[in-house]
Amino acid sequence: MPTLTQPERARGGLLGLAVADALGAPLEFAAPARAATAVEAGLEMTGGGSFGWLPGEWTDDTTMALCLAESIGAHGLLDLDDVTRRYADWASSGPKDIGNATSAALRGASSAAEAREQARTYVERTGSGAGNGTIMRAAPIGLAASSLAEAVDAARADAVLTHGDARAGHASAALCGALLSLDEPLPAARAECAGEPKLLEALDADAAELAALAANQTGACWTALGVALHALTEIDDYERGVLWAISLGGDTDTNAAVAGALLGARHGVEAIPKRWLDVLRRRDRIEAAAASLVAIR
Ligand SMILES: [Mg+2]
Repeated sequence: MPTLTQPERARGGLLGLAVADALGAPLEFAAPARAATAVEAGLEMTGGGSFGWLPGEWTDDTTMALCLAESIGAHGLLDLDDVTRRYADWASSGPKDIGNATSAALRGASSAAEAREQARTYVERTGSGAGNGTIMRAAPIGLAASSLAEAVDAARADAVLTHGDARAGHASAALCGALLSLDEPLPAARAECAGEPKLLEALDADAAELAALAANQTGACWTALGVALHALTEIDDYERGVLWAISLGGDTDTNAAVAGALLGARHGVEAIPKRWLDVLRRRDRIEAAAASLVAIR
């Protein structure tokens, strides 16, 4: 396959993320059997689901990725106080959907230090902070960075703004490693997992094991990482990869969004079905954000 330029990767990655998010949103938290049936019947951009999504409307995954991308475009990699303000402004705007850890960390936060502290105390209080709320938004870092070291440092620094469990940051860093090494993504992703068993096991999992993870460890950062890398390396086709991720049920929009970012970055916007792109909401904002990522180089 032809090697894409960085502008093509950035555009394909962000549009790929948003399209997959919108496609998966109506089936968020669907049981695996219902999700598989919907995909087999020919899933399209119909909207619906428990939040009443409009056709082509994307969710918190894309919104947070755009906040991050727009901050990178304006201030480079990475102005953490600016990123925090953009996240917090969105969080306080009454979004339809926002993750618990993200909401707790961003409430009233006006600086990165405040968000990090609230993320840390959320883990102390609940014991949970390894959700997929950081990997779902991290793709712009991998699409903008000019070096692996820069990308993985920024990915971990972004993650701790909302998630106090280090594994969430490693998952974000692993995604960025893969984005910077799309021909050999698995070794690149493994190298950022800091030896964490849950993350490494998800990267080694076969399709049946990933289906079990999607059903039983819904919302975990390792589930999204494993599903997305499998879609990239074993399916390697935007449409089929994204539909497979959704067919597993569970956190369908996030699993698909991470897979869609990888597959969109690898194959470019031409690989995304036009009938899906045609109904995507706010495509102008996504295109502008992708262009701004390129401009920082
Ligand atoms: Mg979502």
